[in-house]
Formats: sequence, C-alpha cells, structure tokens
Amino acid sequence: MLERISKFFKKDKNSDFSGGYVFGPSEHSLSPEMINRDARKIVDVLQKAGHEAYVVGGCVRDLLLGLKPKDFDVATSAKPWEVKALFRRSRIIGRRFQIVHVQFSREIIEVTTFRSNENQSNSKNRRQQTDSGMLTRDNVFGSIEEDASRRDLTVNALYYDPSDNSIHDFTRGLDDVDDRIIRIIGDPSTRFREDPVRLLRVARFAAKLDFEIEPNTAKPMRHRAGDLQQVSPPRLFDETLKLFMSGNGLITFKLLLKYKLFEYIVPQLNPMLNDQQGQPLKLVGQALINTDKRIRNSQRVTPAFIYAALLWPVVQRLASNYEKNGNSPPYALSKAAGDIIAAQVPVTAIPKRFTIPMREIWDLQLHLKRRGGNRAKRLAEHPRFRAAYDFILLREQAGEDLDGLGDWWTQYQDVDEDQRQSMAEDVLNKDKKPKRRRRRRNQSPKPDNG
Ligand code: ATP
Ligand code: MG
Repeated sequence: MLERISKFFKKDKNSDFSGGYVFGPSEHSLSPEMINRDARKIVDVLQKAGHEAYVVGGCVRDLLLGLKPKDFDVATSAKPWEVKALFRRSRIIGRRFQIVHVQFSREIIEVTTFRSNENQSNSKNRRQQTDSGMLTRDNVFGSIEEDASRRDLTVNALYYDPSDNSIHDFTRGLDDVDDRIIRIIGDPSTRFREDPVRLLRVARFAAKLDFEIEPNTAKPMRHRAGDLQQVSPPRLFDETLKLFMSGNGLITFKLLLKYKLFEYIVPQLNPMLNDQQGQPLKLVGQALINTDKRIRNSQRVTPAFIYAALLWPVVQRLASNYEKNGNSPPYALSKAAGDIIAAQVPVTAIPKRFTIPMREIWDLQLHLKRRGGNRAKRLAEHPRFRAAYDFILLREQAGEDLDGLGDWWTQYQDVDEDQRQSMAEDVLNKDKKPKRRRRRRNQSPKPDNG
C-alpha cells in the first residue's frame, strides 16, 4: 500500500505543497479500526462539537510502518478549556504548554490544542485570557498548518482523520515515511537551537525506525551538540532513558557517538571510549545489547542498571586511584561512587531511587567475591543480588577476568541447599589456606617453638 502512496505522491513531488495535501482512503494503508477506540471517540466528540480534531504524531507514523504505537495522541483546534468542558473525566495539565488528559476506560489520551512555534510567531496572540480570566501565557495557539510546522520531524507531523479515513500532510511526511528518512521540519540549525533535545530525538527515531538521517538534517548536528548543555538535567535524564531503554539502545548509542552527542550525556565516560578495543566501550556496548535483548523478551529493565554500566568504568578507575593512595577497597569504591554520581547528577538528574541501587550494584561487585561460609547465602538473599550478579556476568562478557566468579554464582543458584553449603565451605577453605600459612610463619619465632 505504501508503494501506491509513493507512486501517487512522487508524481507531484515538485508541485506546490503550500496548504498541505490530503490523502484519501485509497492512498494510504491506515483504517479507522487501527486507531485506539478512546482516541477515536475523542476525535468524534470534538468534531461533533464543531472543532477540528485528528489523531497525530508517533502513532500515525508507527501504524504506517506496521509498528505498534506506544500511545495515541489527539490534536485539535479546540482550546484546552473547551476540551475539558466536553469530557467529564479530563484535566488540564502543564503550565507552559497546557495539555488535556482525557480518560475513558483505563487509558489516558493526551489532547493538544494546535500551537504555532513560539519563537517564530509574532507576539500578538501570545498572551491570551479565557473568559474566566485564566492566563494561558505561552500557549501560542495556531492553525493546523502552524501546528505541523512546530513539530520536530516530518514523519511525526501527520494528521489522521478517522471520520473520513484521510491523512493530512503539510511537510511531505508521508513521502519521508515511504523513503525511510528522518528530516527535521524547517531550518535544521534553527530548530536544534530552539530545542537541543531534538538532536537526541533525531538519533532515537533514526535508530528505532532504521531510517536514514537526511543530509541537511545531519549537517549541523555535531556543531549544535554543545547546546545539549542548556537542557535541564531532569529533562535530559528522561530523554536518556528513552534513548537507552526503548529496545534500540546499541544503535542509538552508535549514532550518539557519531554525532558527538554522547559527550554531553555522560561526559565523564566519553574520553574513555576513544579506544575502540578498550574495555569501557565493550562494557557499555554489551550492557546495551543485553538491555535490547531483555526488552525484546519483555523482561524488566531498570535505569539503575544502565547507569551503573555507563559509569562503572569511571568509578573503577577512580576507586583504583583511591586504593593506590592507601584506602581500603570498600572505602575506595564507596568514595569513588559518591564522587562520580555527584559529577553526573548536574548533567542528567538521576533520581535517588536509582542512584541508591546503582551504588548497591557496585558495592556488591566487591562483596560477591567474598562469598565463603555463611556469606554466600546472605548475599544471594540481598534484594540487589540479581542485578549485581547480572553485572558480574556483563563485566565478564565485556572481557574482564574475574576468576570464574560469574560461573561460580551461576552454579550456586542451580544446585540444592546442601551443595550450596559445600560450595561456600570450599571457598572458605580456599580463602583460609594462605592465611594459615602466613600465621605459621609469623608464629615460628615464638620462644616456646624454639
Ligand atoms: P514515541 O511516543 O513513539 O516515542 P512520538 O513521536 O509520539 O514517539 P512523543 O515524544 O510522544 O513522540 O511526542 C509526540 C509528538 O509531539 C511527536 O510526534 C512530535 O510531533 C511532537 N514533539 C515531541 N517532542 C518535540 C520536540 N522536542 N520538538 C518538536 N516537536 C516535538
Ligand atoms: Mg508518543
């Protein structure tokens, strides 16, 4: 079906595109049943109340590509308070950009009023007041066409109308879906400067969809990478999760390196990645391979594990410096962990609920070695044991020699209680032997021996 669109559409490629283009039912592969029932209902209610309303954004793009959309968003000409008045279970959220969350069954659908690009529009409609006197500052409302041009990518700016099964396209986005191209809407450099997170979105969607980044979009990316420093740390943290936890982490990571974006995400690690054969690059790559695999298998992934991997090479290096200065290994590791997290949080604001387990995973890297006697049982019951064990396996996969520690723990978990005890005893005996020898040597000068 996409084939048909392109043939039809490419004929007109040089034609005037101003005012957009409406693709009828025979010109695309979507049908109303593909759209979430609640989203369809919302569009219907808005339209019957005399407003324009469409399903928009990522869901239209994903459906055209045969992918399952993460969520369904609605865009409308109705103002937030008009939307709210139409739906009983709805509330206005957001201060800067007001969005209405509408709930029917379990799902919440985001309804956004057409907006224009704040930075490009004149200020005449910037400050608006509702009848109730509510200030809607910063909600620069606009037409559907303006709404399309303030979006980030052409493939994210398609508007689907389920009532007549049509796609409204103002940016030749359907062509780009068909040609598998990621293209920024408008002047790329300007759009990246307006919101540097778009740099990350370009990389993320190119990786997720396996699309090419269009050359004009790619050109200013390296140059604009430094603008990421202006993104607030909490927002940058949220964006990094989307980069690494959406199932295409490894490809995304490669694009981040290629476009020099990674150094603004984990600046401490970046210099350690220059060595192509080096352990840090292998460790992060392997962590992302494992994460991608877990997501494919619908297994749980946690930001704590990913950040633990991203920062481990730096923590390890700093801890080893502290050890060289005479600190004990646990103290050196704990101090290094604290320092490295303190330096990362001003870049990406990792919440405490993740930094605490990160530190536990790191601490356990030492403890899991000291597993003799009763220790093994206690360690295996530690709430962070599973993650710490996976982390040991990860380090070994990345080429670190841990003297068979991963295998030992794998076996420990596979055998019964008695065998576990004997495994732990064996370790204890092995650990003890050298100490006894040392003690004997120390004891030899004692007077009663001579
Ligand atoms: P997905 O939800 O699958 O990750 P999406 O395209 O729906 O992809 P969202 O982050 O949910 O992405 O954003 C919804 C829509 O809002 C996008 O499709 C895009 O049109 C617009 N958008 C999001 N972020 C930006 C941005 N930084 N600049 C401009 N437009 C944006
Ligand atoms: Mg979305």
